[in-house]
Amino acid sequence: MKHDELMRYSRHIMLPEIDIAGQEKLSNSSIGIVGLGGLGSPCSIYLAASGIGKMNLFDDDYVELSNLNRQIIYDSSDVGAKKTLVAKKRLISLNENIVCDSFFERINKKNINELLKNSDFIVDCSDNFETRKIINEYCFKNDKDLISGACIGWKGQIFNFNFSSFNSPCYECLFEEIEDEDLSCRESSIFSPLAGLIGTFLAIETIKNILEINNSEENFIEIDSLTNEIQKRTIKKNPFCKICKNK
Ligand SMILES: [Zn+2]
Repeated sequence: MKHDELMRYSRHIMLPEIDIAGQEKLSNSSIGIVGLGGLGSPCSIYLAASGIGKMNLFDDDYVELSNLNRQIIYDSSDVGAKKTLVAKKRLISLNENIVCDSFFERINKKNINELLKNSDFIVDCSDNFETRKIINEYCFKNDKDLISGACIGWKGQIFNFNFSSFNSPCYECLFEEIEDEDLSCRESSIFSPLAGLIGTFLAIETIKNILEINNSEENFIEIDSLTNEIQKRTIKKNPFCKICKNK
């Protein structure tokens, strides 16, 4: 590790659970972030600052004025620009040691294998069930960890499906019956700093998975930012799940 990297990551390296070996592991890892909105913004900033070596960014949206109250990777001058281009520029300026590629694409069943093939860990910051389910199936089939988040109103959730290490349940185990777009986050109300909290949690879980120090049984966290209640739970495998039952 070069001198400036030792300095940059020194506060990480001082943590015995990370040390130089762990920091090098982060530098050698590749992650895909799907969605560069309220969750993808803080998540990608912390992962870039933490020295994830290869970051692949996916989004097919342009920055809108109504994004700016929570999508903190953009500023007022970015309205109208492609989110992927602005985010990539910001992350590289934050940490020139990382490699960052951006893809102005919407993930779908046809393109997902090609788009995510170079990412070992997938962070789902998308805003709709259709995309989440497609990503879930891809991660399950390819034994790639899926860290997924969602926010509506004052409440947010974090899911950690560790497909690379465990016979993990999957997103579909919980949400088999939900197809309704009305329940997606895209047009919902959302408390601005909650997006920062959940996006940051996604970065925490992703880094712990990469370092293989995520020993908690709980794979689901729910946070109510109005009451400050935090619940941790273990999602059990649904024996009838159409995606993961045969494993
Ligand atoms: Zn399942």
